[in-house]
Amino acid sequence: MTAGTCPACGAAAPEPFHVGEPVPVNSCLLLGDRDAAVDFPKGALALALCPACGLIWNCRYDPELMTYSQDYEETQGFSPTFQAFIHHLAADWVERYSLGGGTVVEIGCGKGEFLVELARAGIGSGIGIDPGVQPARIPAGLPLTWIQGLFPQDLPDLRADAIVCRHTLEHIAPVREFLAAIRSAITEPERTVLLFEVPDVRRVLDEVAFWDVYYEHSSYFSAGSVGRLFRAAGFDVLAIERAYSDQTLLVEARPAVGGVATAAIPIEEDPAELAEAAARFARGHQAMVDHWRDRIRTVHAGGGRTVIWGGGSKGVAFLAALGADSRLVDGVVDINPFKQNQYMAGTGHRVLAPKDLTDAEPALVIVMNGAYRTEIGAELTDLGLTPTVEAL
Ligand SMILES: [Zn+2]
Repeated sequence: MTAGTCPACGAAAPEPFHVGEPVPVNSCLLLGDRDAAVDFPKGALALALCPACGLIWNCRYDPELMTYSQDYEETQGFSPTFQAFIHHLAADWVERYSLGGGTVVEIGCGKGEFLVELARAGIGSGIGIDPGVQPARIPAGLPLTWIQGLFPQDLPDLRADAIVCRHTLEHIAPVREFLAAIRSAITEPERTVLLFEVPDVRRVLDEVAFWDVYYEHSSYFSAGSVGRLFRAAGFDVLAIERAYSDQTLLVEARPAVGGVATAAIPIEEDPAELAEAAARFARGHQAMVDHWRDRIRTVHAGGGRTVIWGGGSKGVAFLAALGADSRLVDGVVDINPFKQNQYMAGTGHRVLAPKDLTDAEPALVIVMNGAYRTEIGAELTDLGLTPTVEAL
């Protein structure tokens, strides 16, 4: 099996370095019916790495299998940790790029939380575009416009001081084409800055975080590969920084005027270094899956219950990787009320509210995102529960 050509630079790619079990094609869809959740379509997972630019992508990804709609429930906006992060990020970007009174377009705005933060931080107007946006859930009275649709089909011109795009590029397979489309849609290049956030694949590889590899993410970026991609698409990279407990990369760029001139910045690793990290991930993958299987089996054998905390993509990917042992997980908890009483794609676990745990009395709570460990610990204490808490 070969991986074809790299979607970022066009170089021929070698065989995938990791082939995983088939996974639900959509891990944030709300499913009100357990049978529909269990029968949810699955897609193939095979990660390839480009030796020329370092892009990692699922070379078995089929965009035809994906649907994004208003039923897509990706928001982490019910978490105080997440709210604090986006609040500070919005204020920082508004200050550093003088966006007070300016116009911001957010491509892939999700449920709109970030654009709301930008409005509160002082932008003059904002346009959010996303197939899943639900204006009825967004506070009124802010200078914001919502387009339920896709870029560029439903918003061909980008006339703005900043183009924000967070947690969206990794859902795109033709990444170079997408950035080139943004470049050509920008009507006033001297005026516009790009502010992106993507997951950092380097941490996924180093921590063998198999739960961070799932079907919706067709593309995986490191500081080096994302820097090279932006330059190749005609942008000067101003900064790349790690954020959110080193889980993500913030990328700041401007359209290059008169050709691409900037050199790599120090945070960018070279593709060979990334290839070594990918090889370590491939070698360590099975042992990491076995570690969590053993933990859950041990709790079950001792008569205890295990629940996972986090009903989003990480939870779906984690349960899928456990295979038959996912039946030993007694429940899934999520603080997002729109997820509660819905069913997880793949294994069909029903999503519980935190208060439901007082009946379940778990012995082990596995936290799907370590960034939320403190707030989850506090919530368990409030409920009078004292399970062992372990984060992925
Ligand atoms: Zn490449």
